[in-house]
Amino acid sequence: MDYDAIIIGSGLGGCAAGAALAGAGRKVLILERMDVVGGRCSTKVREGFRMDIGCHFLFGCEHGAFEEACRRVGKGGILKFDHPDSFCIKIKDVSIVVDGKDLIVESPKSQRITVHLAEGFQEMMKMMPQELMNMGFGMMGQMMPMVAAMAAPIVEQFDNVPIGDFVDQYLNWPALRDFVELGQFAGFGTPSFLTPVSEMIRTMLIMMEYYKPGMNPLEFIGYPIGGLGTIPATMCEGIKDNGGEVRLEANVKRIIVEGGRATGVELDDGEVMKAPLVVSNAGIKETVAGLVGNEHFDAEYAERIGKLIPGITCFCIRAALDRKITDLDGIFCIPDGNLVSYYHTQWEQHHIPDGRPAVMWSVPSNMDPTAAPEGKQLVIAVGPLTFESDEPYGKIEQDALNTMEHVLPGFKEHLMWYEFLTPDSYMVFGEQGAPAIGIAQCIGQVGKERPSSKSPVEGLYYVGAECGVDMSGIGTDMATRCGLKCADYILSQEKASVGA
Ligand SMILES: Cc1cc2nc3c(=O)[nH]c(=O)nc-3n(C[C@H](O)[C@H](O)[C@H](O)COP(=O)(O)OP(=O)(O)OC[C@H]3O[C@@H](n4cnc5c(N)ncnc54)[C@H](O)[C@@H]3O)c2cc1C
Repeated sequence: MDYDAIIIGSGLGGCAAGAALAGAGRKVLILERMDVVGGRCSTKVREGFRMDIGCHFLFGCEHGAFEEACRRVGKGGILKFDHPDSFCIKIKDVSIVVDGKDLIVESPKSQRITVHLAEGFQEMMKMMPQELMNMGFGMMGQMMPMVAAMAAPIVEQFDNVPIGDFVDQYLNWPALRDFVELGQFAGFGTPSFLTPVSEMIRTMLIMMEYYKPGMNPLEFIGYPIGGLGTIPATMCEGIKDNGGEVRLEANVKRIIVEGGRATGVELDDGEVMKAPLVVSNAGIKETVAGLVGNEHFDAEYAERIGKLIPGITCFCIRAALDRKITDLDGIFCIPDGNLVSYYHTQWEQHHIPDGRPAVMWSVPSNMDPTAAPEGKQLVIAVGPLTFESDEPYGKIEQDALNTMEHVLPGFKEHLMWYEFLTPDSYMVFGEQGAPAIGIAQCIGQVGKERPSSKSPVEGLYYVGAECGVDMSGIGTDMATRCGLKCADYILSQEKASVGA
């Protein structure tokens, strides 16, 4: 055998699995079809602007799974994050701005209200949540395994309750309801009539797991210094330090199955590589039906995997500005309201409604000045989109630019150039439906119903924001945790068979 494990794809799931296996002394080969590592968490540079794939606010940051995966290959403490402290929520004409010192609420019908957090209140805010957080999170965190075990049966009761229905029982304020809708799209990549309440609870349990006494709650969210691609690149460096290999522009054509066991892979150019373990980060549906072939699975399994629903996809605008026009790190904007019905129209009728779409922006160059040339600004905005739209995407491109001008007057004037990514841009990562996150965290696909990382084909596993029983949480963090958990399972099985 050439390697102990071949990993198809260098998304975060693949890199994390690779790091855990390489760190445990296995000879790992990662095969990536693109010319850069990271998949949906990668970065390329254009004219000095760092073009991340998405509008990234990552969850867990230095306290979560990214750090753990890096630590496994001796790269602990290398990743650094900036944590946003100034952001704006704009719903129709109401805007709420937190700029680190002040909280400002503005609406045409009411006066501008400014709460000076700096004057006493800020100090109190700093103290109080910290004390409470330490007490609450700290206690729960220490008892985490017990809390999680006790909570599991309760959480499962919410596997079939959509967040939308749940919230609608208590919330009759359209603007806030829209905000909930956008927030949960940002987190889970599915509309609130599909995401169950249990996903929200499981994500809170993960927060408890990550919490360390003294931690500022804002540190749960952050942007990686050096750009998104720094995270997979650091893991890959560690894999190489531990004797592994990472090959770019290596497209796997098929997974070789002999006698019901995965034994290796074949590349596009016919090159064959052998290993007793194949870990696929290439999408569970694509792996089963495409790389392996349905004929190697029993019909019921193949049908079940074939029917999995991908999460919603998105558009993305990456804008290079000739000067800094905002100090904000992030902006959530729903210019026309009615986001719930907007989603229903998109998802059910495959039609993009008229009007300015909701977008979430991050301003990477405010959080990491090296993201843009000096004096310039980089803005990345993402908005939800269905894949099956029959309409050209040109319309939503113009509408999205109008949203951006509405939030930041002068945006168009200072726009040097921009890139507009449509779902087609995400198809390169191989998944049907080009989902922003992966297999949808929707009713019928969460908790115990999420497909297992272990394939019925011996020696074959799947990783990423795709699978893993009880795997939940937020995109990049979930993909990374899935990779780690799968690799730990593989290692534990090896140990058990040696001991047997
Ligand atoms: C626009 C956008 C914004 C997002 N914003 C956020 C956010 O703010 N926060 C957050 O946490 N998450 C966000 N996400 C989601 C997050 O990026 C993904 O959920 C996560 O990165 C998926 O990781 P993965 O391991 O599942 O695999 P992927 O990133 O999909 O990687 C799979 C890799 O496999 C490779 N591959 C596929 N087939 C083959 C083959 N046959 N041979 C070789 N290689 C192959 C692909 O090229 C790819 O590199 C966003 C996603 C998008 C698109």
